Amino acid sequence: MVKDANSFRGERGLTLIEVLIVVFIISIILAILVPNYSKSTEKAQEKLCFATEKMVEAQMELYRIDVGEEIASTEDLYKLVERGYLKELPVCPAHGEYRIEGKSLFCSKHGHYSAPGAADDHTGGP
Ligand SMILES: [Zn+2]
Repeated sequence: MVKDANSFRGERGLTLIEVLIVVFIISIILAILVPNYSKSTEKAQEKLCFATEKMVEAQMELYRIDVGEEIASTEDLYKLVERGYLKELPVCPAHGEYRIEGKSLFCSKHGHYSAPGAADDHTGGP
């Protein structure tokens, strides 16, 4: 009887320790995964932003060829929408703001896809 009680108590203690170990392991896994998750989200947003820049710049070029007029300022971007070159004004997925510089579209958060800082993660750029 005493032996039974001891082993019962022993099992409970072990279970509690196991639970603590599991909680500890889960918290470690979360600590590792959560920053990686937000990092991969940032990467995805940056890629989408650069894709948007490339697409808008291509439409700017098309507009220049078709209409014979440059999209020279950020305010001119609405002309692309007005003439059907874009469905809507470009929006950065990370809420950066786009501006026109020269013939390029720059994001206030991500810069330009050809910028030296941005080229770090993109091999094979010009
Ligand atoms: Zn952006």
